[in-house]
Amino acid sequence: MIYLDNAATTRVDDRVLDAMLPYLKENFGNSQSQHHYGRVAANALLSSRDKIAGILGCRSEEVYFVSGGTEAGNTALKGVCLAHGSGHLVISAIEHPSVIESAKQMSKLGFGVTFVKPDECGVVNPCDVASAIRSDTIFCAVMAANNETGVIQPIKEIGEICRDRGVFYFADCVQSAGTQPVCTEFCDGLSISSHKLYGPKGAAALYIRGGSKVSGIISGGMQERGLRGGTVNVAAVVGFAEAFKASVEDRERSKKIGEIRDRFLKRVFSEIEGVHINGSGNVLPSHANLSFDGCEGENILFGLDLNGVAVSTGSACSAGAVSPSHVLEAMGLSKERVASAVRFSFGKDNTLEDADRAADILKKVIEKIRR
Ligand code: PLP
Repeated sequence: MIYLDNAATTRVDDRVLDAMLPYLKENFGNSQSQHHYGRVAANALLSSRDKIAGILGCRSEEVYFVSGGTEAGNTALKGVCLAHGSGHLVISAIEHPSVIESAKQMSKLGFGVTFVKPDECGVVNPCDVASAIRSDTIFCAVMAANNETGVIQPIKEIGEICRDRGVFYFADCVQSAGTQPVCTEFCDGLSISSHKLYGPKGAAALYIRGGSKVSGIISGGMQERGLRGGTVNVAAVVGFAEAFKASVEDRERSKKIGEIRDRFLKRVFSEIEGVHINGSGNVLPSHANLSFDGCEGENILFGLDLNGVAVSTGSACSAGAVSPSHVLEAMGLSKERVASAVRFSFGKDNTLEDADRAADILKKVIEKIRR
């Protein structure tokens, strides 16, 4: 099987698993406990937090451990709303559902929400963000890179606009963190999720700039300095910190991933007719979102799966219903192009041979569907 769905999740790196195992076995304590086991767990959290803060270039107290990118997005957005009580939000129309749906929930509670669309290349224009900001805007979310297209967003410019206007700026770095530098300089909040960068599921980091007005949304004990109640998944956090460190040390790998993705694209465009690339300009080296004339994305996915290639479509399946990608729709692509989109996402375990084999199989699958 060739796994080309690394944007959905990744395999746990062996170094990460080795780092985690002691915290699943002998060092199983609850980090809140007042005895030896608790201290060992608390120390592991401390050093994991320091490791992540060191990479992000922020203070350790500004890093909060949460369960995933979804919880991080919910906490940032709802936490700012809760702390302010009222106000207006500016949200890019291509955000992950964790942010879009949180904003819709807040809108039902009386918060104003403006969704900002990208251009047809998938890029959110900082000028559009600036125009959407009002005197009562309290929060803005534009992700560092989109999960479906891989298009990298101008977060430095957007961050500067938000800072000038006194708006809390949240940058979802879940997709970009595996291959791109992540830096807290331009934003007030950002998220990174462990399982997207060869760490375990169930751990993520939410950076919140010190002094920001943000309330917790999960009430409970005083874990995570009261922002997020609940026993921390120590083994997952240890693995996450190790995975994040490894992703920085292996940064060169993103070049290799880009070469494999480009080889695949070259073969696809030279051997298959009626292919379109969704999202262009500055794109993550891992992603290729393609549409195929005369085909349904779902059929391509199933055809590839039957022939040993794992990919995903731009659509989200919920309760058995397939809804078209809100990202591709926001880019203004035609219905046919949205319905025929497939996301191929490459990772560090892929090889040039994978690219060739996947291109061969895709060609056959598309020919069969079109017949
Ligand atoms: N944000 C982006 C851009 C994502 O791609 C994802 C997951 O696909 C998430 C947030 C949610 O992360 P998690 O799966 O850790 O909840």
